[in-house]
Amino acid sequence: MSSAPSAASTAPSTVELSAAPDRATAAERAEQLFVESFGYAPDGVWSAPGRVNIIGEHVDYQDGLCLPMAISHRCFAAAARTPTDRLRVRSAQSGTTLDIDARELTPETVSGWPAYVAGVLWALGPRISGASTRGMDIMIDGQVPLGAGLSSSAALECAAAEAIEALLTLGTGPLDRVRAAITAETDFAGASTGGLDQSASVLAREGHALLLDCRDFSTRAVPWDLASQGLALLITDTRAEHSHVDGEYTARRADSERAARTLGLATLRDADPDRLESLLARIDDEVVRRRAHHVITEIGRVEEVDALLAAGSVRSQVAEIGALLNASHDSLREDYEVTVPQLDVAVDAARAAGAHGARMTGGGFGGSTIALVEAEQAQRVAEAIAAAFAEHGFDAPEFFLALPSEGAGQDR
Ligand code: ADP
Ligand code: MG
Repeated sequence: MSSAPSAASTAPSTVELSAAPDRATAAERAEQLFVESFGYAPDGVWSAPGRVNIIGEHVDYQDGLCLPMAISHRCFAAAARTPTDRLRVRSAQSGTTLDIDARELTPETVSGWPAYVAGVLWALGPRISGASTRGMDIMIDGQVPLGAGLSSSAALECAAAEAIEALLTLGTGPLDRVRAAITAETDFAGASTGGLDQSASVLAREGHALLLDCRDFSTRAVPWDLASQGLALLITDTRAEHSHVDGEYTARRADSERAARTLGLATLRDADPDRLESLLARIDDEVVRRRAHHVITEIGRVEEVDALLAAGSVRSQVAEIGALLNASHDSLREDYEVTVPQLDVAVDAARAAGAHGARMTGGGFGGSTIALVEAEQAQRVAEAIAAAFAEHGFDAPEFFLALPSEGAGQDR
């Protein structure tokens, strides 16, 4: 479906909603790419999904609750063990390759994207018997857009972790692989991650969201079966330039830590939401007070969504859940101040076009938004967002349709 171009409108004439390719077909393609690149057949194909956070933003570092779901877009790793110690890594999405002695991996020896893969092997190193060779060939083929806030990096690490476990039979459990992926990203690739992405990518279940308690990293699957209820999650990659992200992130963290200290709490998770007003009144600094307001109320909103989904289906609770998504965004915009104009315009346009609820997802300062919509209206909502972007002179956004998908696993 496309709207006819008109002289009055600067909106793009076609808006494409990219659904992920069929998983089995994509796995076959990864296997084919391996054969073409390495000249022999792989031992298998493994994959892991990207994610969106449905609600629970900027609360992980205050021991809060998050509710991510895995998206349909996955990263595939076709891989084979070799009787050597060479680690060879290639990607259909990058010309940069790696060919290194796997016994000599250190964070200094690998740069660029292959660090996310080599880092997993490095993190799992202590589990590998000294007598065993570590050599393997890995071909990566990812569908998660890179750098859109949908966690292509976790999908890459977690797909690699599945492949490495299967090839070397290390006896790791899913949580060990989550940890190895986090270690790869933080200690080997040198990027910062809270662990939400890797938990979702490994532990998510099809048709469910994953309630993640950042206090102890315990998780619980929560029914979130959008497809059977005629609902869809429209993801908009705003393609807004990420700027000052690291500095602002550090500043928000520091503000929230200051709030907790002022209240005499280890973290804001321990704040009693029923005493919100009296707690906030004890924080003199107006900015810090607003930061605390966001974190405490956001954790409460995750609890409310969880309670709504325990009491009924997404369909029966869609109005209330939508309102909580909206409240989350408004709090991130006004109290936490991590949105940018593109995020706000995408959210406002989605709401005006009839979305049940819409919010930014991820750390903010760019990245993506989600809108909970009637499946049949996804196209229309996307067109409204595209038109609003054109009106504001923003770069055209990209759209993805996602269903709550299964976490990491073997495909072939
Ligand atoms: P996000 O995780 O939100 O997509 P990041 O900056 O954390 O953004 O991770 C993106 C990086 O992950 C890319 O710049 C690249 O280094 C790496 N990456 C992810 N998927 C692939 C892939 N399929 N091939 C090569 N590199 C990838
Ligand atoms: Mg990432």
